[in-house]
Amino acid sequence: MSEQKCQHGETTSGAERPYITSVSVHPFTDENPRAHGWVTYTQTCDDCGAERAVNANQGHAEFSPWGPSTAERRRREREAALTAAEKVRADAVRRGTPMLHQRRVRVEEARDDSARIDADGCFVTVPVSEIARCASAPDGGDGVDVLRRAGVHQPPAGSDRAAFYVAMLDQCRARAGATQ
Ligand SMILES: [Zn+2]
Repeated sequence: MSEQKCQHGETTSGAERPYITSVSVHPFTDENPRAHGWVTYTQTCDDCGAERAVNANQGHAEFSPWGPSTAERRRREREAALTAAEKVRADAVRRGTPMLHQRRVRVEEARDDSARIDADGCFVTVPVSEIARCASAPDGGDGVDVLRRAGVHQPPAGSDRAAFYVAMLDQCRARAGATQ
């Protein structure tokens, strides 16, 4: 990565804030107690955007190791959050899909924002947003249960219900993708 090659020659120092604690990280940087007690600021590499924290006091300095830029850190956090959310969704699809099969419920067609559901031979067309609402309401009452409300099916309860609808939502996406 270019981040490792950069020598961080030209830097810009951010605003000073009151000293809180040592920023050194053994064995990458050395602690310097003489730099403690006054101010801390962030130094940003003008070339690659890497950042490090600096403690400064009366000409003494103590550094943290160079780390990713704020933008890069945010990007990694967002990516980690998305990965975690996707894992939760995939787990629910894995649990919910057999329930759909068992109960002979399937998405026959999904287009625009509505889906035609075959619930063991009973057909109903519902908004996809309603299915999404059921999928995100693990402990929701029967009021949010779109199939039950339509009187065509009685899906499982509790968190099983959410997984059931997450799997249905997954089928909606697959069907919608197939017709485009
Ligand atoms: Zn750099």
